[in-house]
Amino acid sequence: MKRKQNLVVIGNGMAGARTVEEILARGGSELFRISIFGDEPCGNYNRILLSSILEGTRSEEEVMLNRPAWYADNGIRLNAGVRALRIQRHAKCVLGADGTVEPYDKLIIATGSRPYIPPLHGLQGEDGGGKPGIFGFRSLDDCRRIAEYARGRRRAAVIGGGLLGLECAYALQALGIEAHVIHRSKHLMNHQLDSPAGAILQSLMQKLGMHVHLEKQTTAVLGEERVSGLAFADGPELPCDLVVFASGTTPNTELAVRCGLPVARGIVVDSQLRTADPNVHAVGECVQYRAQVYGLVAPAWEQAKVLAEHLTERDSKAAYHGSKIATRLKVAGVQLASMGEIDPSEERDEVVQFAEPHKGTYKKLVIRSGRLIGAILLGDADRAAGLLSAFDSGARLPEERATLLFHMGARETRGGLDQVPPETQICSCAGIRMGAVLGCIQSGLRSAEAVMETTRAGKACGSCEPALREIVAWACRGSAAQDTFALPGSDGEHRLQEKYGTTVQALAFYKHRVFHCLNPTMQAFIARQEMLFVATADRQGHAHSSFRAGHAGFVKVLDERTIAYPEYRGNGVMSSLGNLAENPHVGLTFLDFQTDRIGLHVNGEARIVEKDELERLLKCRPAEAAVLGGAAVQKPTSADGGSVERWVLVSVADAFIHCAKHIPRMQKVEQEVTWGTDDAAAKNGNYFGSACS
Ligand SMILES: Cc1cc2nc3c(=O)[nH]c(=O)nc-3n(C[C@H](O)[C@H](O)[C@H](O)COP(=O)(O)OP(=O)(O)OC[C@H]3O[C@@H](n4cnc5c(N)ncnc54)[C@H](O)[C@@H]3O)c2cc1C
Repeated sequence: MKRKQNLVVIGNGMAGARTVEEILARGGSELFRISIFGDEPCGNYNRILLSSILEGTRSEEEVMLNRPAWYADNGIRLNAGVRALRIQRHAKCVLGADGTVEPYDKLIIATGSRPYIPPLHGLQGEDGGGKPGIFGFRSLDDCRRIAEYARGRRRAAVIGGGLLGLECAYALQALGIEAHVIHRSKHLMNHQLDSPAGAILQSLMQKLGMHVHLEKQTTAVLGEERVSGLAFADGPELPCDLVVFASGTTPNTELAVRCGLPVARGIVVDSQLRTADPNVHAVGECVQYRAQVYGLVAPAWEQAKVLAEHLTERDSKAAYHGSKIATRLKVAGVQLASMGEIDPSEERDEVVQFAEPHKGTYKKLVIRSGRLIGAILLGDADRAAGLLSAFDSGARLPEERATLLFHMGARETRGGLDQVPPETQICSCAGIRMGAVLGCIQSGLRSAEAVMETTRAGKACGSCEPALREIVAWACRGSAAQDTFALPGSDGEHRLQEKYGTTVQALAFYKHRVFHCLNPTMQAFIARQEMLFVATADRQGHAHSSFRAGHAGFVKVLDERTIAYPEYRGNGVMSSLGNLAENPHVGLTFLDFQTDRIGLHVNGEARIVEKDELERLLKCRPAEAAVLGGAAVQKPTSADGGSVERWVLVSVADAFIHCAKHIPRMQKVEQEVTWGTDDAAAKNGNYFGSACS
């Protein structure tokens, strides 16, 4: 039997641990005795989610990817909290700070990078060490120290208006501290956004309460014993209690330099992730491939796969050819996706652009030879998955460019998953495509969790998780496990579902998508409602739900895609208007309490209209008069006597029936209550005729 080789990994971060996982997945435990040096004392965690730790919305436990037991279970020796000090290439061993010596046949350097701290005046404290109040933002330990120091302090400055800086500033603000973002360039996120998008993002950030200072060159950190402010090349000083540097990273290349490996900006590797020494490889942020150093997790994970193919000798042709870059901002409430080239660089480049600054929306495509080479989506990133897929695959774009940016017409909804080609990228961090997700379902997996565990999709930045859950629910159809699923609808609705533990029920509800069957019978159903539930969410995604009641017909059906409901003055429930002004998405649930048979839920875009406008709209639609019982807009009063103030016009985008006999009448849902039914007779009932079977 072949002797197991010693494989040593330096760095237990997102690239190092991931490479080990990929190696194990290819039978690596039969080939290697694996040991890892990790100078952070815990297992491996999802660094991408650090801002949520700082913010306090996730616990440390929640961001762990591999706990210490995982290493033991896989026969891996983890030198946790031990820094590798030297690589001796002639002796083929690594020396640890605690005296550990690990011999290797193959070595992987995955040391990542550290925050770049520019050489400013005043970085040192009185004792010559770092001045108290200065921080980087890279590790769990940084988060703990920042949170501890911020307690009881008033103002923080974050140097760097990129993705990291904005996330950090937002998190600091959540800790109750005034956050100032100091940025050298003319607009925020200047690597990912053009100036109009940067300006919109700035106003969104300001609305979230952050202070943004642009074109500011910091020259010194002020304060004797501890930080008391910042000085700039121009303009007045900014008093502050702490400073976080988020202005770039420096790859950790010192070990490689010391052992004589070629290093430029990062450790130089070839397409097999080999350094100049064929037994020493490198992956992740410490690496430079063709003059490019990447600061994102997707490239690191692509590299991990290629390296694993080579080390396990599974595929000697596997090659890394660089990564296409896409970014999503995770700051609460701000939807942002940016990919590739943000400005045209050749005369033949085509630009498609849409801006609605007062709504915080900006969309831009850069197209070359009919293919997407870059895009920005700000304020509405609904189309991000499709664009990412087009960007990634280099597929030809449709002639009707607007369809890439907007939902065109009511029939084109986010449904139609059966139309999604297998090569569509679902998780850009892990590079998981539609085909791979469907493959998992075909192989018997029945829950989103299981698919995520198997593919690692949704495990990094997490932005694809809702889409992934929707795909799994759709692909499993009736046979999904009773785990919870993300559902159609707004973030706010999802939060409500989570809050009230109704996700499973809602899934049953959403199983019966009937958008294409919004026929006259259903319109009549809506029009004779005496009660509906309205769910909205504010810009931050905080959800609100309340009911509206009135006489039958108080909900107007303008056509099979358009509904209007009144908002009353004087009955204390005029809450949807405020939310809708910020976030024009609404979920409406109609329940027929009389027959206890049917619930209909619609999601749509909402617009607030005055009574006159609604009247005009109704007049243009005489055919609907029958549905409306011949009614133009009366002056309906609510059940408790409030009078109509405004109307909310809803363009229906999605519709679902909940067709159980079991809708509990406004009572607490017990565990045993089964929501939803597959009973065809109950489903069809006499509401929907055969169109809905
Ligand atoms: C707050 C934050 C948010 C982010 N958000 C995103 C995002 O939304 N999307 C995205 O794609 N990327 C994001 N990133 C970047 C992403 O986390 C990195 O690209 C990824 O972690 C790189 O993996 P890595 O293994 O190369 O480096 P790391 O994850 O930093 O791991 C390197 C590890 O090596 C250890 N190490 C270094 N030197 C030694 C030594 N001599 N001995 C032993 N151990 C050593 C380090 O302590 C560290 O644990 C974010 C990063 C941060 C900090």
